[in-house]
Amino acid sequence: MVVVDMNRAILRRVVNTKQALTFSKRTFCNIAANVGSSSDNSNNEATENCNTNHDNEHDVAIVGGGMVGIALASALSSLALTKHLSVAIIDSNPTLGLKKTIEKDAPPDPRVSTVTPATISFFKDVGAWQYVQQHRHAYFDKMQVWDYTGLGYTRYNARDIGKEILGCVVENKVLHYSLLSSLQDKANFRKKIYPARLTSMLLQSEKLYPKGSPEDKRLSRLAKLELSSGDNIYAKLVVGADGSKSRVREVAGFKTSGWNYSQHAIICTVEHCSENQCAWQRFLPSGPIALLPIGDHFSNIVWTMNPTEASAHKSMSEDDFVKAVNYALVYGYGPHPTSSFLGQYGDGLSWITGGAPPSVNESFQVPPKAVKVVSERMAFPLSLMHANDYVSQRVALIGDAAHTVHPLAGQGVNLGFGDAIALANAIAEGISVGSDIGELPLLKTYERERKVANIAMMAILDGFQKAFSIDLGPINLLRAAAFHGAQYIGPLKRNIISYATGGKMWPLFS
Ligand SMILES: Cc1cc2nc3c(=O)[nH]c(=O)nc-3n(C[C@H](O)[C@H](O)[C@H](O)COP(=O)(O)OP(=O)(O)OC[C@H]3O[C@@H](n4cnc5c(N)ncnc54)[C@H](O)[C@@H]3O)c2cc1C
Repeated sequence: MVVVDMNRAILRRVVNTKQALTFSKRTFCNIAANVGSSSDNSNNEATENCNTNHDNEHDVAIVGGGMVGIALASALSSLALTKHLSVAIIDSNPTLGLKKTIEKDAPPDPRVSTVTPATISFFKDVGAWQYVQQHRHAYFDKMQVWDYTGLGYTRYNARDIGKEILGCVVENKVLHYSLLSSLQDKANFRKKIYPARLTSMLLQSEKLYPKGSPEDKRLSRLAKLELSSGDNIYAKLVVGADGSKSRVREVAGFKTSGWNYSQHAIICTVEHCSENQCAWQRFLPSGPIALLPIGDHFSNIVWTMNPTEASAHKSMSEDDFVKAVNYALVYGYGPHPTSSFLGQYGDGLSWITGGAPPSVNESFQVPPKAVKVVSERMAFPLSLMHANDYVSQRVALIGDAAHTVHPLAGQGVNLGFGDAIALANAIAEGISVGSDIGELPLLKTYERERKVANIAMMAILDGFQKAFSIDLGPINLLRAAAFHGAQYIGPLKRNIISYATGGKMWPLFS
């Protein structure tokens, strides 16, 4: 109900400010200019070629129609204050314009995402979850995390925080299709898909129109986008949802910080003899391996290792790979953990355990064996990247264009959906008070909200990645203590679960 609640709050503010909203029909001037990186001196070369072409003028231009870009379009199409905006979606992905279908009986695609309850609520609000439910997806209510030393483990249960599920694993293509379908259901929403790539961009400004006529002033409030198709389009706000190598980020001149992990993630789908209903993650010396349920008898593997090992695991025979997976998860590297000191004395330590959650008494379980690999194996290099700014005048970044994180906790696209919700709400809020939706002060409200959330999550994931990469006696003991703490200390456990599932609690204690 995130979007709906915000919508109500904004509507109340509209009534209070008594601001009349008008979306006047506009006349548009096409500006012929050298733009973006190819521009020599666009100030001098800008020449106006006035016509009344309304088709290429939009309120919002979303560059990148991946999961996050389409989520923003969906959010805009669902909010009362933004559903009449004109939205351009620019992406050369040929399936965007089509009402494609997804084969239901084929084995799952290896590209999957673990979506949090907060993301599921968003999908329900925009009418997309009904489409996920028509395809393969797997809710899970239990999760087990442990490491190869055998010194400790943590089991999480949705009942620990009074919920029914911890999350749901869905193929990325199903998430994308569902958001697109929900968008197509909104017949009155003015969206236009440009099957092209952004090549360059000119962020108009009053300096380009020194004459200062009313028409000049109007044009100075639009950004110009040049597309690989040869089209030029114009928008009040350009949103970079074009992934980790964002062209919008580059052309707008945003700097980034971050590093490569010198790790690759191997992903693929495996089959079991029976259905897997738990999310498993074991930390090995080379990185974590996750076994995520994806419905029927299938699970998804996300296995992090160094690039040399990754290339060996990608090319080894299927039989050898299945053996390697079972060794990594079921019987290799070290002993299975047993219950701990705190577990044995849990009752006497109730002042620490703070009302023991149900999973405190759950013993360590051995994950189900894989019997077969049923998809191709894919490898992705891993990095942490954060844009120093998410916004500038007329530009906002969302999703992987603004930040990429280690996939060890399956948070990347969930953070991106959080960005899409926050930006849609900021735009609605701007409209409610009659402001230009490309103005920096308005966009800064979006940036402030999301930087806090994204940086906190990035710091936690990076800390985990580093803490679990060290194989040293004292660090191993510290890790064991952390596992025991997370298993037995009730408030800590509930806080971790709530945060990881998209709840608002601050990491550790709030
Ligand atoms: C191994 C692995 C496992 C993961 N598992 C999870 C998980 O379990 N849960 C989770 O939340 N996240 C997970 N993630 C992260 C998640 O996949 C990403 O965060 C997500 O895909 C980002 O979506 P996006 O729409 O921002 O970017 P992208 O998916 O990269 O989409 C960008 C779009 O922009 C388009 N584009 C690019 N350049 C241009 C241009 N110049 N002009 C126009 N269009 C352009 C592309 O065609 C593409 O459609 C995982 C990542 C990896 C690598």
